[in-house]
Amino acid sequence: MRDLSAGAALLSLNTATLGPRRSLQDAVEACLRHGVGGISPWRDKIAEAGLAQAERMIKRAGLTVTGVCRGGMFTAADAPGRQQALAENRRAVDEAATLGAACLVLVVGGLPAGSKDLGDARRQVADGIAATLEYARSAQVRLAIEPLHPMYAADRACINTLAQALDLCDGLGEGIGVAVDVYHVWWDPELAAQIARAGRDGRLCAYHVCDWLVPTRDVLTDRGMMGDGVIGLKEIRGAVEQAGFTGLCEVEIFSALTWWPKPVDEIMATMVERGRSCV
Ligand code: ZN
Repeated sequence: MRDLSAGAALLSLNTATLGPRRSLQDAVEACLRHGVGGISPWRDKIAEAGLAQAERMIKRAGLTVTGVCRGGMFTAADAPGRQQALAENRRAVDEAATLGAACLVLVVGGLPAGSKDLGDARRQVADGIAATLEYARSAQVRLAIEPLHPMYAADRACINTLAQALDLCDGLGEGIGVAVDVYHVWWDPELAAQIARAGRDGRLCAYHVCDWLVPTRDVLTDRGMMGDGVIGLKEIRGAVEQAGFTGLCEVEIFSALTWWPKPVDEIMATMVERGRSCV
């Protein structure tokens, strides 16, 4: 297992961690001030900055782009809706290519409005990913399916375990893998086995960290800072690295009540300290 005690160079900042009020420039400058080695921008932050300017800013700062968040949302109630989603995913692939991102993270989508047919939603997701994968291969962008905790199956992602994501990858071949986010997979009794499988298959694209708070006050925006919750972070990173992952640990904390209101440097300093002690 790698030594994270030396500094923050092995951490990456997911822009969501600083909250919606902060710009991409705020995030890039924060990384530089705190020695954080990478960044993973959300697309709304890329759009605010402008893609060309985002690319310049990140390159000049020398940051590794551990991912672009996010593509996906393939499910829709009708064919035009699904076509629209594919077009949006091609734009996301282009952005990831421009930024030289390690992957485009896919949050695949939940049930279409009015539907109770989870099987159909999952078929739509498989079709959408297959269609996007061709485009992503030609752009040399790796797709990373992020399985989301089952509490999001209805509205965000009907791929809910690593096993399910890897099964899907098995049928798709090269150019696709998984993003392992501890918030979504920590509870899974098959976690260690599926991380090992992802490593064997060469499908570990990204590793996201935060913590699971008890109690959790909001299922979307009450993620914990590493060390404040119950996830066995060192054990999971050990498994991921044992499986061959050599990328940065991406810190992704949606925290409307606790962290987003705090000053950027307090969030960053805490994240770096917890990176040393807890991740
Ligand atoms: Zn994530």
